[in-house]
Amino acid sequence: MCGVFGIFGHPEAANLTYLGLHALQHRGQESAGIATSDGQNLSLHRGMGHVIDIFTPEQLARLGGQNAIGHVRYSTAGGSMLKNAQPIAVEYARGSIAIGHNGNLTNADQLRESLEARGSIFQSTSDTEVIVHLMAISSQRSPQDRIADALTKVSGAFSLMCLTPNSMIAVRDPMGFRPLCLGRMPGEGAWVVSSEPSSFDLIDAEYVRDVEPGEMVVIDERGLSSVRPFADMPRSTCIFEYVYFARPDSTLDGISVYEARKNLGRLLAQRHPVEADVAIPVPDSGVPATIGYAEAAGIPFELGLVRSHYVGRTFIEPQQSIRHFGVRLKLNPIASVLKGKRVVVIDDSIVRGTTSRKIVKMVRAAGATEVHLRISSPPTKWPCYYGIDTPTRAELIASSHSVEEINQYITSDSLAYLSIEEMHDAVLSARAEPASERRALPVIGRSLSKSNFCDACWSGNYPVEFIPPPKQRQMRLLDI
Ligand code: AMP
Repeated sequence: MCGVFGIFGHPEAANLTYLGLHALQHRGQESAGIATSDGQNLSLHRGMGHVIDIFTPEQLARLGGQNAIGHVRYSTAGGSMLKNAQPIAVEYARGSIAIGHNGNLTNADQLRESLEARGSIFQSTSDTEVIVHLMAISSQRSPQDRIADALTKVSGAFSLMCLTPNSMIAVRDPMGFRPLCLGRMPGEGAWVVSSEPSSFDLIDAEYVRDVEPGEMVVIDERGLSSVRPFADMPRSTCIFEYVYFARPDSTLDGISVYEARKNLGRLLAQRHPVEADVAIPVPDSGVPATIGYAEAAGIPFELGLVRSHYVGRTFIEPQQSIRHFGVRLKLNPIASVLKGKRVVVIDDSIVRGTTSRKIVKMVRAAGATEVHLRISSPPTKWPCYYGIDTPTRAELIASSHSVEEINQYITSDSLAYLSIEEMHDAVLSARAEPASERRALPVIGRSLSKSNFCDACWSGNYPVEFIPPPKQRQMRLLDI
């Protein structure tokens, strides 16, 4: 759960990267950073918190140069602390490089152990640093060959942005777990790369195409070139990006996130109908699915819950117990919508079950006569090793409880999920025409089918094996 962004050859590289990261803020709110290059030197600024709080105009002005990469982080490997913030920037024997990574490596601990055994000293606990060390010891000459060499040794998920003093390199892992797409500033202008194309709109860049799984795009003063340094592997794009994670105004690998979510909602209404007066979303992620549900069920869509967008982290908890305090910080019911109504609440997923339980109780307390819960994905039973923050199996309520048991725990009148098959159908039927007819490069595309998605958090079918740490690492250097 991170976002990456980069731009090559623009006088306002740092400012545009700042805006790009702003549009990717939903992918990570713990830390952010920008690295720039002026052809000779790299400059870096990173901080904890939101993009808007980390960068001042003065700091952005100091990030000189025409090339920049940026990163927003949500920690899924390595703790939430400044030393794990990205981009990581290092100097090694052949120059300097900055790297930003979205995804999780599945063999990072094992590689780290062997790198440390031969003398590598790590500065962070992030899995991304493994790539930096592998690159530094590579016997290849050019930065792109060293990066390719390093990446052939790692497995798992990576959508990666690298910046050297005179090139920008974007790589998507051979299975294509996480999204990555290519854009261009108007009039054959600077090249732009981002986790999601919705970030292009803010800076007026034009979407060109998605970076293909297994593709490495190298951009330098000679222009753009594309190589495929990895052996072909079956495609395994994360379907949870469509269900929950990506922005609804993004189209990823030719599938509109918004239309996918609406289709999920439509299918929920068809497969799991219930007599109800009103359909309400758990905002914001449940909104498109609820639009689809209400339309297919022929019942009104209403906003029964209002979300505060300013929650952040609160340190003030009242001493006195306040009912629903945690969830009320984020969501508050509108009684006039709910009172005396049979309500269907639509959410994208149940993880631990704590949020849904509080929401059901809150909606009932606001006067609903019946509260039915519909989930626009299957029961989440397995943790993700490829970059989505899901807890251990023990914490995932569906790994040890049936749908009826969860329904009882959550206190809903009825509960239903989509099946894995239905989810695939709904997402695939949202294939969109490319936003742009422009084709700077041939698309090395393969058309997506059901077998091209990773659905491990629901099915337990892991496309890449996760290799657990050889031994539990005892951190002795406390950075406070
Ligand atoms: P829980 O209370 O643990 O069941 O959380 C369920 C809520 O978390 C749902 O409203 C989801 O939209 C949201 N959610 C699902 N997956 C994630 C995730 N990986 N990180 C943060 N929130 C999530």
